[in-house]
Amino acid sequence: MDKHAVTHTLDQLAAVLELKGESAARVRAVQRAARSEILATGRSSALDELREQVPPGLVEMLRIPGLGVAKVRQIHEALAIESLGELEAAAVDGRLAALPRFGTKTVEAVRRGIASLRQVAGPRLFHHARDEIERVRRALTGLEGGGVQRVEVAGAVRRRCEIIGRLDLIAVQADPAAREALIHRLAQTPGVTEIGGQAGTITLRFASGTVVDVLPTTPDRFGLDWIRATGSSAHVAAFEDRARTLGVSLEGAFPDETRAYQAIDCAWVPPELREEGDALEAAAAGRLPHLVEPADLCGFLHCHSHYSDGTVTIAEWAAGCRAAGYDWVGITDHSQSSPYAGGLRAEDVAQQHAEIDAVNAGAVGLRVLKGVEADILTDGTLDYGPDVLDRFDFVIGSIHSRFGMSEGEMTRRVLAAMDDPHLTILGHPTGRLLLQREPYAIDLEQVLRTAAERGIAVEVNADPHRLDLDWRLVRRARELGVLISIGADAHSPAGITNVDIGLGIARKGWLQPADVLNTRDAEGFLAFARQRRAVTA
Ligand SMILES: [Zn+2]
Ligand SMILES: [Zn+2]
Repeated sequence: MDKHAVTHTLDQLAAVLELKGESAARVRAVQRAARSEILATGRSSALDELREQVPPGLVEMLRIPGLGVAKVRQIHEALAIESLGELEAAAVDGRLAALPRFGTKTVEAVRRGIASLRQVAGPRLFHHARDEIERVRRALTGLEGGGVQRVEVAGAVRRRCEIIGRLDLIAVQADPAAREALIHRLAQTPGVTEIGGQAGTITLRFASGTVVDVLPTTPDRFGLDWIRATGSSAHVAAFEDRARTLGVSLEGAFPDETRAYQAIDCAWVPPELREEGDALEAAAAGRLPHLVEPADLCGFLHCHSHYSDGTVTIAEWAAGCRAAGYDWVGITDHSQSSPYAGGLRAEDVAQQHAEIDAVNAGAVGLRVLKGVEADILTDGTLDYGPDVLDRFDFVIGSIHSRFGMSEGEMTRRVLAAMDDPHLTILGHPTGRLLLQREPYAIDLEQVLRTAAERGIAVEVNADPHRLDLDWRLVRRARELGVLISIGADAHSPAGITNVDIGLGIARKGWLQPADVLNTRDAEGFLAFARQRRAVTA
């Protein structure tokens, strides 16, 4: 491992410890202890575990010039902010400027810092890429000249991939001869420093480092070109192969995607499915799934209230979820021995449940369910006795510690937890943090088979830093008959929008409404949890 990478890991370790409020002496001691492990293995198990205890968005905020640990903690504590998106909103609406020691100058610096953080070239998380490409798309749409009628997002963002390398747009121009005018127009986009490109694509480089490929097209070629600019190379190759085999010329007019797919005897393929593999075969055979949609979801699952590390009350969760259109919400605070500060102590369960009952008695149109995110301890037991677990409507079991176990040990640990009839849902099943931490070693095939057998749902954790279960395995889970639960893992109502990102992963995994636990009404969901307890108890 090179010196640079070691330093980087040590810096991250220090940042996370400082965010937790550890003293400088303690930070140095932990760094000293971790150094030889990092040199030997390239990783730090201490860092892996600490990352569970600090929202990843806070670590990202430290990269903004002018925001040190003290300011980031102040923002988190005073405004309950834990992501760059929320921070940006607070910078815009004045909440940030109203904090002590935050003037308009600092706020301006924060806004610039967020913008440049997002606009780094190279792999980035889906939600950052989506926000960034949308800004560029709007900037191009708003420019005068060049005869551009329409600009649309293409590429991996449109396919809703979890990590995005290149950013792709398609621009519709009435007059194909006006390419020069288009280039001239693109050069006026704010921040563009360089224009290049090949094979028809125009590549924009921004001062910030962002690179965006723009594919110019005409109205009558738009459908076919949007397919080409969206699909993985495997999907595009399969499309063209099929056209060749059928003797279909792709030189004609294809003003929309449906007509282009029809030309090769296929149904329109949802962008999420345009990866490698058999989507096109399924489209030809009329076997494409009817993918789950936002309107299919009635229940909101996996959120933390102020009873653990969340920032709002039960009543505020109920109000937020009702406003977002849900029929029910399952509150799941952390359990007692969670390494997170302030897991729900057994003696506080009664108080939390009384509060939920009161909200249910007063609320109209939304039901609050009593759940918990119980730690799966190292021996595979859940973090409360059966008498306490019995009092919850449902239980998510998750691993938050000892990520470094061998595959055999970790698999045994999770399978042991699945022996407990209280376990309704297995939470973030691999523990990965995208671009930060690899999944822990575990035999997921065995875990998924067991989940199918026992009627345990498996989570697609919709936190954009996790997106765990991976969509490739979601598809496998579906084949095995595992029910999938989309869990927001939200710590404040701003995280309600995580669900949409998780839904993209569910769709990439070919899930239909019946495959997703959140599409059931409250009674249906409760029946699922009860059945699990009755069958195995
Ligand atoms: Zn968790
Ligand atoms: Zn959680």
